[in-house]
Amino acid sequence: RFRNVPQGPPIEVFALNKAFLDDPYEPKVNLGAGAYRDEKGQPWVLPVVRKTERLMAQDDFLNHEYLPVLGLDTFSSAATALLLGEDSHVFSKGLAFGVQVLSGTGALRMAAEFLSKQLKYNTFYVSDPTWENHNLVFTNAGFKDARKYRYWDPKTRGIDFEGMIEDLKSAPEDSVIILHACAHNPTGCDPTQEQWKKIAEVMEERKLFPMFDSAYQGFASGDIEKDAWAVRYFVDKGFELLCAQSFAKNFGLYNERVGNLTFVANCKEVAVAVKSQVTLSVRGMYSNPPNHGARIVATILNNPGLFQEWKDCIKIMSRRIHSMRKELRDRLEKLGTPGSWEHITSQIGMFSYTGLNAKQSEHMIECFHVYMLKSGRINMCGLNPENVDYVAKAIYDTINE
Ligand code: PMP
Repeated sequence: RFRNVPQGPPIEVFALNKAFLDDPYEPKVNLGAGAYRDEKGQPWVLPVVRKTERLMAQDDFLNHEYLPVLGLDTFSSAATALLLGEDSHVFSKGLAFGVQVLSGTGALRMAAEFLSKQLKYNTFYVSDPTWENHNLVFTNAGFKDARKYRYWDPKTRGIDFEGMIEDLKSAPEDSVIILHACAHNPTGCDPTQEQWKKIAEVMEERKLFPMFDSAYQGFASGDIEKDAWAVRYFVDKGFELLCAQSFAKNFGLYNERVGNLTFVANCKEVAVAVKSQVTLSVRGMYSNPPNHGARIVATILNNPGLFQEWKDCIKIMSRRIHSMRKELRDRLEKLGTPGSWEHITSQIGMFSYTGLNAKQSEHMIECFHVYMLKSGRINMCGLNPENVDYVAKAIYDTINE
């Protein structure tokens, strides 16, 4: 029975993390996994999250009863409002609703499940490159036709916008287009607002379906409104769409699996039927979601004082990332590292696509114990004032190899 099961490939980012932990050499630096680290290189529990957890621990009325299949209402409605803006017209018209799911990945999986089973969609497009899990999630949910649209241009170290538009123009009707709402992973390059308008125009013309993935709201710019601009623009243009929201990064709640899947329809009546189908999907997969993390987020988003404290935390994280970008670029330039390093500071979010190739990235690991993905992606949060000189010198030496 089990004997014929073939060995699956390792998952790069988890394998890299383990290799880092097992490596006895010092100094070593982990720029692989996508998690925030403070300036001492430690995981950071947001003070507002800690405070909320303490309040919850003292609440004798909280219990461990099941949540409803679609999760905590106070969470999903606040999460949806955070994404679309509290005064969005879709709320007064009853066109949008959210569903609590298992973090961003679970949101994408539920979305893919719905699009495949209910709408019978079969083709999806991801940016080239993208967060590698998009492909696995969508094919596991039943999509047979996986395609890419051009995105990264290694020559300019920016977006190949013409290529992207050309690919969207030739996509078949009803293709699902996965779009990173902000802080594109892995490149750190987002379209400008003008470019988003053009993307929307082509998608409307070609009847393509927008599937937004919002894993970094607030993290990208420190401003939750700005980071939701693209999604809100598409909503204002009247698209029916889905958006997967993760609260792993912006609340530092990685292992609590807090996510929301937002549905925006263009007619109020369909929402009831859609919800009923999602309910059956969830029931058949994991029955109902966990409470703890979603309750933390709901408590914070629904309390003006805590909400402000959370926004302050986001600013601390995004500012630190920004300052490490500046420091890394500064040092690379001071060392006279060949090539332009402007992209390090123009990219946003947690990740930077350094432009190092697979061989160079492996060299960084083998010779300098600086762990990074083969694609050349580094997590800026892995840098801190103590290791940035070391990493810059490692990049310099690697390029001059
Ligand atoms: N989408 C993108 C683009 C991501 O970078 C991530 C996190 N690495 C996710 C979705 C989902 O992460 P999670 O399931 O941990 O919320």
